[in-house]
Amino acid sequence: MKTSITASMLYDLVQCPHRVSMDLFEDFTKKDPINPFVQLLWEKGNAFEQEVIEGLQVPFVNLRPFSDQEREQRTKEAMSRGDTLIYGGRISADDLLGDPDLLRWKEGGYVAGDIKSGAGVEGASEDTDGKPKKHYAVQLSLYTDILERMGLSGGRTPFIWDVHGDEVIYDLDVPQGARNPQSLWGLYQASLATAKNIVEGSEKTLPAYAGICKLCHWYTSCTSRLRELNDLTLIPELGRAKRDVMVPRISGIKHLAEADLEKLSDGKKTVFSGIGHGSLEKFQVRARIQCQPGAEPYLKEPIHLPHSELELFFDIETDPMRDICYLHGFVERNGGENSTERYVPFLAEQPTPEEEERAFAQAWEYVQANRPCVIYYYSPYERTFWRKLQKLYPTIATEEEIEEIFTPEVSVDLYQNVVRSKTEWPTNDFSMKTIASFLGFKWRDPHPSGAASIEWYHRWVETGDPKIRQRILDYNEDDCRAMRVLLDAVQGFEVA
Ligand code: SF4
Repeated sequence: MKTSITASMLYDLVQCPHRVSMDLFEDFTKKDPINPFVQLLWEKGNAFEQEVIEGLQVPFVNLRPFSDQEREQRTKEAMSRGDTLIYGGRISADDLLGDPDLLRWKEGGYVAGDIKSGAGVEGASEDTDGKPKKHYAVQLSLYTDILERMGLSGGRTPFIWDVHGDEVIYDLDVPQGARNPQSLWGLYQASLATAKNIVEGSEKTLPAYAGICKLCHWYTSCTSRLRELNDLTLIPELGRAKRDVMVPRISGIKHLAEADLEKLSDGKKTVFSGIGHGSLEKFQVRARIQCQPGAEPYLKEPIHLPHSELELFFDIETDPMRDICYLHGFVERNGGENSTERYVPFLAEQPTPEEEERAFAQAWEYVQANRPCVIYYYSPYERTFWRKLQKLYPTIATEEEIEEIFTPEVSVDLYQNVVRSKTEWPTNDFSMKTIASFLGFKWRDPHPSGAASIEWYHRWVETGDPKIRQRILDYNEDDCRAMRVLLDAVQGFEVA
């Protein structure tokens, strides 16, 4: 039977084309178990869809209870009657198959919509509206394409009903941005062509090491293949796009380590489109340290950090599904003595704005009461989220007060200002887990991750189980301690 191109296939393809190949052709017994966080996303997605449908105030046709075949037949019948809203329908044309959550009558045809338990756009802030999500756009485009092929389209303006209760229209024909003239429809056409090539076997894909791999059911298979291939994406920050540009001339990490860069460069430019000489040199350094048996991390230049008797190692945990910050954790250390360490958490005991505000207010008071101090955190995320919390709860602190906390005299982003800019490591990425594990630090939890913590928080809110609450706190405490281990190690590194 011919394989159809589906919306979920395009969703995966936008994030990782290799995932599509693996799902189609790889032995499924090699899959890892489904990650509990992914499972939670599914559950929350289904529950949210159910809640939205139960709250609908308008008449609609419900086709969810029927088999796939029946749903398709009944969708055709509903559309030929001109029913105004169809839930759970199925449509197909040629080799395209779609299961839009909604089909809504509009201007002599239908537009499709999906119900999503996430925000309808990404990157929205007080100052910007945010951009359409590509993985949503390709799904909506597929439904629209099918409707056009059926002669039943009401226009290229499908929609998302999102977690905030907003209807977000995806205008598929407008350019994606000032610097990106390609429309979402153009993105869809390109994605569809790639998907067809993968399905037909005319396009071979390669795995690429990336952050999303850690949640993917092919993680074990792909990482082992990447190691066999000595793949360039195992170099921190190199990534799929650069690897694909480089791989015709540079086959792998060892090859890059030994390459004569002068032959690949012309001044600041290189033969690789979009990769400058400086970046190529940086990747070669990282390739060399990976190829050296027993290599140790080192400083590229001296680091100058602010000094205070009191150090605070600070880490927050957030739940993107509820869009809240549920934990602010601090490990404090006095006079550089590890024996003085103490963990101080501020947890939102319920996922409510009131609890989020209380936890933020207490964390803020704690920091104020402990000045002067130096605050260490890992990645700009803590600063970004505290800025956001300040806007939500402006009586707790002013904008200026939050900015002052994150000035270089008071705090240090160990990821941006130390690891990324001043050090090199024989590791495949610069995540705190990877770096601190390399230094010998061990989390108490056997499966530590930010995604896992979110999953525990959901379970704890549902069950009230104190063991789960403690697991969340232990994990956050260990994240803070891992930062202290990193700081101490880096301060002992030699400058190479
Ligand atoms: S593990 Fe990574 S490379 Fe492999 S299929 Fe999943 S996302 Fe793609």
